[in-house]
Amino acid sequence: MTTSRDLTGKVVLITGSSGGIGAVTAVEFARLGAQVVVTGRRKDRVSAVAKQCAEASPTGVKALEVVADVTNDSDCRRLVADTIKTFKKLDILINNAGRGIVSSIWDEDILDKYELHMNTNLRSVVWLTHLCVEHLEKTKGNIVNISSILAFKPRRLLYSMSKAALDMFTKCVALELGPKGIRANVVNPGVVKTETFGTSLNMNKAKSDQFLKGMAEKYPLGRVGEPMDVIKAVLYLTSDLASFVTGSNFVVDGGAQYV
Ligand code: NDP
Repeated sequence: MTTSRDLTGKVVLITGSSGGIGAVTAVEFARLGAQVVVTGRRKDRVSAVAKQCAEASPTGVKALEVVADVTNDSDCRRLVADTIKTFKKLDILINNAGRGIVSSIWDEDILDKYELHMNTNLRSVVWLTHLCVEHLEKTKGNIVNISSILAFKPRRLLYSMSKAALDMFTKCVALELGPKGIRANVVNPGVVKTETFGTSLNMNKAKSDQFLKGMAEKYPLGRVGEPMDVIKAVLYLTSDLASFVTGSNFVVDGGAQYV
């Protein structure tokens, strides 16, 4: 499944693009002509995805590879500085990097888990947005934050909380950035099948496959999401079709929130 849109000349920074939804997003944006920044903590994965981007690009444009941890403030600063040094501008920031592990109020290490979720899913987005807005103002660019449908499931306490805060951060920052010509929106996916789905929830492959099958049967559209379902929403929100859309939540969940 592919999409159509001409992104030639657009510079797109996608956090968490060394794997999962972010990697598929980077390759798809490259295929549509964008100059993409591929980033994550694993150097081998960053390089592998950057190679796929170059292969997918209609003009063979090389992706910029930056190995960085979004929870590290100086890594974020270097990520944005390298992007601007290489491409001279930034059009789209996609804050996709995220972590979600099981958590409960009974956990002894709840504060460690709190820091992991909040630093990865929220603090990094606040800091990267701060670092990018001066560049996005010049291009009248935009931001998409990848959140979640906050299903109120047991043992998802901290993940849901961090994503709820991300949703509200986006709404509030959209108020400030609107007058500067910058739009900021959220995509809230339901379950999305990625190559490592289940790992962070302590599921082995068999358990993860069984879980995804069970979810697919419950979802009104009869399947769970694919990365491309999320990407189509991101493409819409970052396009002129969404020129009057900011501070909004775009739910992509096959109707899951209603069951
Ligand atoms: P994956 O775990 O498959 O990939 C996460 C990506 O983020 C990897 O590239 C990882 O790279 C990177 N990453 C994680 N922590 C850091 C960090 N500290 N610094 C830099 N990069 C980091 O996740 P998904 O693709 O499944 O999820 C992507 C986003 O979508 C997340 O925000 C998630 O919450 C959200 N989401 C996912 C759903 C799903 O069902 N898959 C459902 C709803 C929302 P590396 O390890 O190399 O650093």
